Amino acid sequence: MLKKLQKCLFITLSFIGLSIQAQHKCLSGIKHAEILKNSQLAKEENQKLENYTQKIVSDKAKSRTQAAEVIYIPVVVHVVYNTPEQNISDSQIASQIEILNKDFEGKNADSTAIPSVFKPLFSKTNIKFVLANRDPDGNTTTGITRTATNVTAFNSSTEAVKKDADGGKTAWDVNKYMNMWVCSIDGTTLGYATLPGDLATNGALDGVVIRYNAFGIASINEGDNTLGRTATHEVWHWLNLSHIWGDADCGDDFVSDTPPQSKPNESNCPTFPNNANTSCTGANGEMFMNYMDYVNDACMNMFSVGQGTRMYAAINGARASLKTSTGYVLSTNPNSSLPGNNTGIVVKKNAPSFFVNPNPSTGIFSIKNTSLNVATSVVVKNVFGNIVASFSDVKMPYSLDLSSFSDGLYFVEVSQNEQKDLLKLILIH
Ligand SMILES: [Zn+2]
Repeated sequence: MLKKLQKCLFITLSFIGLSIQAQHKCLSGIKHAEILKNSQLAKEENQKLENYTQKIVSDKAKSRTQAAEVIYIPVVVHVVYNTPEQNISDSQIASQIEILNKDFEGKNADSTAIPSVFKPLFSKTNIKFVLANRDPDGNTTTGITRTATNVTAFNSSTEAVKKDADGGKTAWDVNKYMNMWVCSIDGTTLGYATLPGDLATNGALDGVVIRYNAFGIASINEGDNTLGRTATHEVWHWLNLSHIWGDADCGDDFVSDTPPQSKPNESNCPTFPNNANTSCTGANGEMFMNYMDYVNDACMNMFSVGQGTRMYAAINGARASLKTSTGYVLSTNPNSSLPGNNTGIVVKKNAPSFFVNPNPSTGIFSIKNTSLNVATSVVVKNVFGNIVASFSDVKMPYSLDLSSFSDGLYFVEVSQNEQKDLLKLILIH
């Protein structure tokens, strides 16, 4: 839910006390509030990013364009371990990268569980997380560092895990890499992340920290956090999303299409509709299946169109330097596997992305991409998520004729092999 934008940016400061009560899963909100409280420059930098974000939101609403560019984010995973179990395997790390990509690209199989009223808001990004294959000196790397430590459980306040001198591992260049630390954290915290508005004032500590047994898929993982969604949640923070309840009773998450919510749903899985028609919510209740709530891993499965737009503003704003990072070098050979690319991801120079024009159209939309003559399916849904037309085994470019349909917004899912894309079309006769 979006409230009065700029005035409310720092309202979370007033709710630190409330946040403490619900801080066990994730400390990102409370740590961000502490930074704002202690630094005028941090306030100014966050306000600057927020102004830019709202301009992007406004421009996107006008143009209705879909970002087609694939953005690769080089990731370095710093494993900081005190026991053999904490020295997690390469395959556990690869599984986490794969989960991040599925969730961010909207390819998570459990998206079928999204309630129909929220399905039109189910969004997808063109973000791809890849283990870095070049270190800060330009040498080849696996994108994984391993550091033995005497620290049995890291204190989230001291941030020792991010400092060589304190038994941790100092970040790689935060303008080129997403730093992820995997370690034992004291207390019951699963993870925390820094927000992009704090990059200028808190850059040395920029990144994401995840508890070693809530990271990726592994037999050592425990409780309700076995599907790698702790990292999905934290990486969304790192890309400037707030908790869906706005860290306050019916608070503001700066996103217009997420329903208001009075507090987190903690480590459970409510039934839809949840908490409908309260003083805070409407008839559809809460979007508890959103990655920015606190439900268990198996219950969360979506982010909204508005959250996706906010994230793109972060990528093109405070985190824009990642787009030209030298930390990941794309292969020109689509079949090659570069050093460090142990994520199961086939590197493709031209990942399929679909384009549509004209948009808006009076009836005929031309859909195309770079892969010609490949069997493609096209499914058209209305704003309620109902399928209104479906075409299989078509070839690109494809002329989609919606001239007999009513004016309005349509969602078109285009599938080609394992690739899927969601297009938003506007029909105006
Ligand atoms: Zn969080």
